Amino acid sequence: MEIQQELQRLRDQLEQANYEYYMLDAPTMSDYDFDHMLRRLEELEAEHPELVTPDSPTQRVGGKVAEGFSEVVHQVPLESLQDVFSMEELAEFGQRVHEAAEDAEYDVEPKVDGLSVALEYENGVFIRGATRGDGRVGEDVTQNLKTIRTIPLRLPDNLPRLIVRGEVFMPKSVFQKLNEERELAGKPLFANPRNAAAGSLRQLDPKIAAERRLDILVFNIQYADGKTFSTHTDTLEYLESQHFRVIPHTSCATIEDCAKRIEAIGDGREAFDFDIDGAVVKVNSLADREVLGSTAKFPRWAAAYKYPPEQKPSTIVDIVVQVGRTGVLTPKAVVEPVRLAGTTVTNATLHNQDFITEKDVRIGDTVLIQKAGEIIPEIVSVLPEKRPEGTVPYQLPERCPVCGAAVVRDEDGAALRCTGAECPAQLIRHLVHFASRDAMDIEGLGPANVESLVHAGLIKTPGDLYSLQATDVAKLDHMGKKSAQNLIDAIENSKKNDLSKLLTAFGIRQVGQKAAQVLARQFGTLDALAAAGEEALTAVPDIGDITAQSLAAWFSDPQSQHLIETLKAAGVNMESYAEPVGDKLAGLTFVLTGELSSFTRKEAGERIQALGGKVSGSVSKKTSYVIAGEAAGSKLRKAQELGIPVLDEVGLVALLDENG
Ligand code: AMP
Repeated sequence: MEIQQELQRLRDQLEQANYEYYMLDAPTMSDYDFDHMLRRLEELEAEHPELVTPDSPTQRVGGKVAEGFSEVVHQVPLESLQDVFSMEELAEFGQRVHEAAEDAEYDVEPKVDGLSVALEYENGVFIRGATRGDGRVGEDVTQNLKTIRTIPLRLPDNLPRLIVRGEVFMPKSVFQKLNEERELAGKPLFANPRNAAAGSLRQLDPKIAAERRLDILVFNIQYADGKTFSTHTDTLEYLESQHFRVIPHTSCATIEDCAKRIEAIGDGREAFDFDIDGAVVKVNSLADREVLGSTAKFPRWAAAYKYPPEQKPSTIVDIVVQVGRTGVLTPKAVVEPVRLAGTTVTNATLHNQDFITEKDVRIGDTVLIQKAGEIIPEIVSVLPEKRPEGTVPYQLPERCPVCGAAVVRDEDGAALRCTGAECPAQLIRHLVHFASRDAMDIEGLGPANVESLVHAGLIKTPGDLYSLQATDVAKLDHMGKKSAQNLIDAIENSKKNDLSKLLTAFGIRQVGQKAAQVLARQFGTLDALAAAGEEALTAVPDIGDITAQSLAAWFSDPQSQHLIETLKAAGVNMESYAEPVGDKLAGLTFVLTGELSSFTRKEAGERIQALGGKVSGSVSKKTSYVIAGEAAGSKLRKAQELGIPVLDEVGLVALLDENG
């Protein structure tokens, strides 16, 4: 009994000290005493594990790592709010309220941009907390919620049952620091405090959640057994008396007053240590709320005013161009640091050349920047009156800023892409593609191993693959001696591949597996292909102008030539094993129609192409022969109209035999 009394005394004192420290910001106990007392409590609990209670301060970061989160059915659903986007819409909301409850008064609160949770207390003890989920069913995140110091684990009153609703958030200062740390550690950054809070609350390890220093603001009593209230303000005051951190709130007699308050909240949002995405107007009298009721989705007695995204001017100090893994050049404006929607913005996306041209964004310009939700800051417009003299329109470079190779525009979009075969920015993607099944088919060289090889500095250009040493590869993480040797063997084996696989592996724009096969067969060797001009290339069936240009440009680039030389020196095969293409039917164009019996139309087409003939889909004056199988239709008629020679299947076979 004595032990139990001491445990209770320690817990009460620690909970009170916690409240004074975190809520009142007025500690009466020194850190030293606090730590000492907590230690004593931990020791006693370790000796008497059967006496540990869920509300013990030792349980804030004590829980086991959960397997996952179990579902919680909310006793009272966590409703959504109707949005209003302008003061007119707010007035209309006021009008609707007025019609049902003539003397309604209001309460206005900031709308915290975090995560909604419900906290359940039984006999004054925090027993469970859950996320909103879909409003009806959420997830049990009790362990992580306990790490939030401003959630009381025990209340002064002990009502049989109390459920409160609040918004969990990450304070702006914590967010800033967390992202700075993540940047240093090379970890992906959180887009905004809400994402960071969501990620933290759903951490399976409460220790990590604890490090994240989340906070909460409560704004509603969902359910109270043993207590009645007449206004919302009363409930908030009661929550305050129970040591909760309560949302800042202001009473307003009319909807016009609400509008003023909303504007003031918007103007002062910088000063809050939490992000807001609006302000909430609520009818204050609980009796009025009863009268107004709810729709299926939200209560009729409340509305969320959504502020337009915050915009601020800043000056463009520079435009930098980054080259992504896929070779796309992305321009980014470096701007004078400016605080926007809770974060310090130092750069904004410029998307591509079309965006820059359309808005005429220049270095030195003052621009309006906006950050909406999770999106990276955007440039809304240039402020022309602030443009200094001597600026010039901005053009993306014609050469890759990383490797100096030519840059081409995507056929189907605004993106500019580097064509460098050895561009360091694209090395990983080039290698992954090089080794893939349709290309050099090097088993064991998937994305993970490519990353390790590159990060270990063993490969600087794709050609380096062929000078890898098994002993170096074996030193990589997760690589045994055996798998290192297997990888080296697979690389060695790939040297024997057909030219078509090597061509595919180069990843020349427009040249996929199919075109590579056609080209390899047509030219026989890589040297012959490299020497072929655009004209010879377009003469090849299935190779169009764009592909021919792309090939010619690729072969003339010094990086490609270097790569080819390296591969040659390593002994990589540069010849095609396919039957060489004949030229007996060169210059003739065939159109196939109807059904053939001894082969499919596709096979027939391939036989014709193998002899140098072209196959086309439509009949014109340039068609040399129409091959008509069974049930040939309009193409046959057209051939007859134009007087083009028609062959049946027997005629085709004879022609192929004669020439092949
Ligand atoms: P919505 O999700 O847009 O329908 O907005 C409703 C959400 O706003 C709720 O899930 C609440 O978690 C959140 N919220 C933030 N601050 C408040 C507040 N002061 N009063 C009511 N809801 C709030």
